[in-house]
Amino acid sequence: MKVQGKVVGQVLLPYDIDAYFYVDNGMSNIFCVDCGTRLDRDVRPKFLKIGNKFDIGSTYDGELILSERSKLVFSSIFTSLNFETYPTDKGVYSRPCDLGFVRIDADFRNIEFSGKCDLCGGYKEIGPVGPAKLICDEDLWDFNILQSDLEVGFGNRKRRLIMIGMAAFSRMRQKKLSGLFSGPVYSSSLSRWWK
Ligand SMILES: [Zn+2]
Repeated sequence: MKVQGKVVGQVLLPYDIDAYFYVDNGMSNIFCVDCGTRLDRDVRPKFLKIGNKFDIGSTYDGELILSERSKLVFSSIFTSLNFETYPTDKGVYSRPCDLGFVRIDADFRNIEFSGKCDLCGGYKEIGPVGPAKLICDEDLWDFNILQSDLEVGFGNRKRRLIMIGMAAFSRMRQKKLSGLFSGPVYSSSLSRWWK
């Protein structure tokens, strides 16, 4: 698969930290029983039990989780970023919050919305996940961290993609954080459709 086009950022594709943000925290009732779409956006876990330690990781249900070290790196690069913190069995972990939105081009990878849910109006599956292409390059600047307008994935693992401008990502990479895995975010000028 060869794609030509300018890479303007990176989408974080962190590994699972072997933890649930919601489901194992007595919060399975915040998801639609039919399609798994999260219905309550305000509820938070009180405690996380983490299996795998990474500086940057993801819970099974799609939340980006940062170690104390990576939180320091993130807050030094994105100086106005807000965080929520959570006690875990492996120390305090954080999650960036109040991220702005970036629009992604659903046609680029033929993102399909399947399993329309009569109960909540959501979809069981939206995918495939990444790589992403922007609708408007001006949406993602060099030192931005943003979340995709679309949630992608399956059932209660649907999540928004976290995207980082290229300059910020390069700086982040120098810090050698564990779990910093990513894929390209392509410029809107990329003309070739994903095959
Ligand atoms: Zn539903």
